[in-house]
Amino acid sequence: MTVVAEEKPKQENAYTCLKCGIPLEPGEVTVSYLGSSFPVELPRCKQCGFVLVTEDLALGRMLQVEKTLEDK
Ligand SMILES: [Zn+2]
Repeated sequence: MTVVAEEKPKQENAYTCLKCGIPLEPGEVTVSYLGSSFPVELPRCKQCGFVLVTEDLALGRMLQVEKTLEDK
């Protein structure tokens, strides 16, 4: 029996700002989507303000928001 795990290894603090060479730290960033603004926690560089938007994170959060909007 083969079990396919979809879980990806957690790699927090695995991202580094290429510009500053310092590790990105999770921070709350406001994202606009479908006419709504909502806070998302994303890895960001505290020095230059670069925000790393990973597809998984953004899509996961946006699906949540879409559900929330539909429920209203
Ligand atoms: Zn930076």
